[in-house]
Amino acid sequence: MTSLANTSLNPAALDFLERIERQFHVDDAQLQIIVDQFLKDFEAGLNKNGQALPMVPTYVTHLPDGTEKGTFLALDLGGTNLRVCQVTLLGNQQVEMKQSKYRVSDALKTGEAVDLFNYMADSVDHFLTTTDVAPGAEDEDLYLGLTFSFPVDQTAINKGKLIHWTKGFMATNAIGHDVMQMLQDALDRRHIHVKCAALINDTVGCLLSHAYFSGGCILGAIFGTGTNGAYVEDFTKVTKLPKGAFEGTLPKSMVINIEWGAFDNARKVIPRTIFDNKLDRESINPRFQAYEKCISGMYLGEIVRNILLYLVDNSILFSGYSSKQLNTHYGFDTELMSNIESDKSDEGRTVREILTEKMGIDDQSIGPNDIAIVRWACKIVAGRAAKLSSCAVAAIIHETHCAEGNEDFLDVGVDGSLIAFYPGFEDGLRESLRTLVGESIEKRTRIGLAKDGSGIGAALGALGALKAERARAGVPMGDGVGLNHHLPKGLAMTEMHPETAAA
Ligand code: ADP
Ligand code: MG
Repeated sequence: MTSLANTSLNPAALDFLERIERQFHVDDAQLQIIVDQFLKDFEAGLNKNGQALPMVPTYVTHLPDGTEKGTFLALDLGGTNLRVCQVTLLGNQQVEMKQSKYRVSDALKTGEAVDLFNYMADSVDHFLTTTDVAPGAEDEDLYLGLTFSFPVDQTAINKGKLIHWTKGFMATNAIGHDVMQMLQDALDRRHIHVKCAALINDTVGCLLSHAYFSGGCILGAIFGTGTNGAYVEDFTKVTKLPKGAFEGTLPKSMVINIEWGAFDNARKVIPRTIFDNKLDRESINPRFQAYEKCISGMYLGEIVRNILLYLVDNSILFSGYSSKQLNTHYGFDTELMSNIESDKSDEGRTVREILTEKMGIDDQSIGPNDIAIVRWACKIVAGRAAKLSSCAVAAIIHETHCAEGNEDFLDVGVDGSLIAFYPGFEDGLRESLRTLVGESIEKRTRIGLAKDGSGIGAALGALGALKAERARAGVPMGDGVGLNHHLPKGLAMTEMHPETAAA
């Protein structure tokens, strides 16, 4: 059994733990079944709305290759702060960037939507007037890409209606409204010469940004609080889109936001444990986001907590004692798993410290076997997450046929604390990817952290929108769009506080 061999646990306890571990095991045949189901769900979701996977068309029709030039604004709403960035693409896979952060108060999050969008416009205004931005030509608007990390029903690159708020936002009179129009109206009321050009999901931003820096990208994937991915699909396969939505010629391809967190909500292919079932039953969205609940940072710690409590209740762990913190729903953060697995020492001093200081377990009730069991629990949960993650990557390699007929590298851009920091997560993903796509394709797969998808990616989205607009009007793109807006060299960064940010 993983990592419990050197303990002095009695055979009955070992057997008990082994039965838990088996529940978390996903064998190669099951992984393959999951990939096959992904491929079926891709097709169904591309053909029709309301299927297992949303497969959201993003109206992004081209990937950058690093030669793009121009200066664009990016606005990022949905994280901790509102961020305004000015991104200058230098065309040699380099960028220059300036940014300011603005605090979004609870009053703004929960008040009238018009106030929130006014605040966003004010922040753009504040950014443009306080940073060293040379004014544009008289009739030239700066193009803006908005990373809006909430679910929207998108109908064009610059149109999307808010479906519902998440993450503590609940501003009124926003749901069902076009967020780009609300932002544009707020900017127009202030006579700010900025055009809202592209509405970008964070996975799409990740894909675009990574394509710019790597020269290509087959998948942008997030493994953070949640998990999701975006990739480039043949437009002819996106049969659910009304063709009337396009002016002029139809595009060859379209970026699809898979919303893969929803995979296997029907519970057909992912083997589930009682710990998953408990998590789901007690969650705010039972029977939804089934794949995400096995994989992402929001949930892994909670699955481990469920295991630990089960062991406590069976008097196998901590001499049968728990703590207030361990008894608390979502009381064990995934970051702690990461720290626990980073401690490779024999005696596990960091593990003990986490258990006593962060989790409030009495030091007296933690024996050497307990340290080993806690490590083991983190490992089986994170190991399964990494394995299951490989299925989505393998499915994209199959779906796009990107590995066929060439020897190129397959670039995957990733973002999120889980893949960035969890020890062994990427290795685990790769290991099962190898069994799914073969060693030679796995070797060619380069997994790299995408740089600032929500800033640079949104700017690239705005550039894509501008290109499409010029193509429709028959105006050549030329070189150096928006280069009137020069930036000083290097990356500057200012942090604004509410009192200095526009009111
Ligand atoms: P977001 O997805 O919200 O943009 P992150 O990518 O930082 O933000 O992901 C946050 C999630 O990652 C949280 O669920 C947190 O528990 C988890 N997390 C934070 N730090 C680490 C870490 N060092 N290792 C693994 N997971 C982490
Ligand atoms: Mg993120």
